[in-house]
Amino acid sequence: MKKYKHLFFDLDKTLYDFEKSSESTFRDFFDIYHLENKGVNSFQKFIETYRRINLMLWAIYREGGIKKEVLNIKRFDLALQEFGIHDTILATRIAEYYVNKSPLKKTLFPGVIKTLNYLENKYHMHIITNGFEEVQWKKLRASNLRKYFDKVITSEEAGCKKPDKGIFIYSLTQANAKIGESLMIGDDLIVDIKGAHAAGIDQVFVNYSNNSHGEEVTYEIQHLEELMKIL
Ligand SMILES: [Mg+2]
Repeated sequence: MKKYKHLFFDLDKTLYDFEKSSESTFRDFFDIYHLENKGVNSFQKFIETYRRINLMLWAIYREGGIKKEVLNIKRFDLALQEFGIHDTILATRIAEYYVNKSPLKKTLFPGVIKTLNYLENKYHMHIITNGFEEVQWKKLRASNLRKYFDKVITSEEAGCKKPDKGIFIYSLTQANAKIGESLMIGDDLIVDIKGAHAAGIDQVFVNYSNNSHGEEVTYEIQHLEELMKIL
């Protein structure tokens, strides 16, 4: 096996259980803003609607077609509209609440701290994330993850987003790491794995849901603690 020196981790859905923190925050603002009384008859339907719209807007955001401030409000505005609520002020309030509160939820995947404790004395560890800068920093601090990582590279700072190989090259330079001694660990086959592959970096695909796929990956795991067997 190659002698890796630098581990680059994705944050959302790899270390940080984004779905869990998101859903919990949705429950909070659902009550606070009385969405049921306003016409949102199903919490589950609302969150599914939001997720569909959010994915669509993120695809546009990744291509540079929408600003993050607009994306943040628009995803709630469009979701509310599907339930007959046309209220951009309410959408703005919910968007602010969500961005401020969601990252404060301490929802890490099982085994994250144990695995990072094991790895921290053996490797230099870094984060490469497409998330919004201020939101990602909140998550890292609130979940006590910051201390494990030398470099935290956000797409906002790098000027490009995964899977663009530019962000991987930028990260290598920032970390003073060579391609051959680096490993990218992430949950997204396209964004993390194919992106790293295109930059010549080995990858660990964190396949929590055990989805079948046809991509070639260097390593594949279903639980983060399996990293302790590989590394
Ligand atoms: Mg991810």
